[in-house]
Amino acid sequence: MRQLFQNLYPMDEITIKGLTFEPYISREEIAKQVERVAAEVKRDCVTDSPIFVCVLKGAFMFAADFYRAIDMPKSEIAFIRYKSYLGTESTGEMNKILGLNDDITGREVIIIEDIVDTGLTAHALRQDIEAMSPMSVKMVTLLYKPASLKVGKVPEYVGFEIPPKFIIGYGLDLDEQVRGLKEIYVLKKED
Ligand code: 5GP
Repeated sequence: MRQLFQNLYPMDEITIKGLTFEPYISREEIAKQVERVAAEVKRDCVTDSPIFVCVLKGAFMFAADFYRAIDMPKSEIAFIRYKSYLGTESTGEMNKILGLNDDITGREVIIIEDIVDTGLTAHALRQDIEAMSPMSVKMVTLLYKPASLKVGKVPEYVGFEIPPKFIIGYGLDLDEQVRGLKEIYVLKKED
């Protein structure tokens, strides 16, 4: 039965909005690295009641799997949403459209990101959260493109280091679509 399922739904190329993407990271590999980073974050927590801050929208799927994997009953999860200003270049100006209502003063905070590319989003987030006087702030990201980092710190916990290519799936979008893909796909180079 399992074999039949795999044959019926192999990871295949997909074309969306005229762009072709090829399979990049399987759901098994994602699950393995989610478990690994969850174990590392849990090992390093200095309290048993950290607050995790999921950055919408892209991190929602990773955060759900990560939060189940970390299994810390006294921890909390909160959500924040930023959007880059439209019509500007990468200035680092972020528009916070859903803020944190939770009191994080003196708390151990772990930001959950989907991907760190230039680092602008991560940097703005850290600054905003640090201004709220937490005990500490760390970041776990599913994906990190080290060659693209322009500003800010290297994330403390990384699922996958990847080259500076455009990827989709498992929460990551193409113009708001394809977030529900269970695997991660990479934009195929034109021949
Ligand atoms: P930053 O450049 O600020 O580190 O990343 C900003 C945002 O760009 C990320 O949170 C993510 O939403 C988006 N992003 C960066 N790289 C990719 C990518 O390869 N694919 C997709 N779908 N979004 C990306």
